[in-house]
Amino acid sequence: MLPATADPETPMDAVRAQRCRLHPAREAAARCPGCGGCFCRECVTEHAGRLLCAACLARAADTARPVRRRFRGFAALAGFLALWGALYLSGRLLLAIPSDTHDLESADGHPTPETPEP
Ligand SMILES: [Zn+2]
Ligand SMILES: [Zn+2]
Repeated sequence: MLPATADPETPMDAVRAQRCRLHPAREAAARCPGCGGCFCRECVTEHAGRLLCAACLARAADTARPVRRRFRGFAALAGFLALWGALYLSGRLLLAIPSDTHDLESADGHPTPETPEP
């Protein structure tokens, strides 16, 4: 006869002892279908009829809105073009300054017809 070892730590007790992943002091109220983790009621949010945790909710929201990602890419492209334009304009300004000084130097050496002759 096998000795019946009455284990008090039954799996049933383990299930009841499920705690929130983010709040170990709180009992889990729902299990996230995305990652399979147990979370308390404050950590899950209803999304499309399911209770998702914050991480899975962000992931679902990110995949559900491709337009926003496209807009983000467009904003990055616009920012890059603006930066390139600013660098281009500053480069033109830097190029224009030496040419002015060169004109002044040449005017000093060779008088232009605009200067009145004595
Ligand atoms: Zn999750
Ligand atoms: Zn929690």
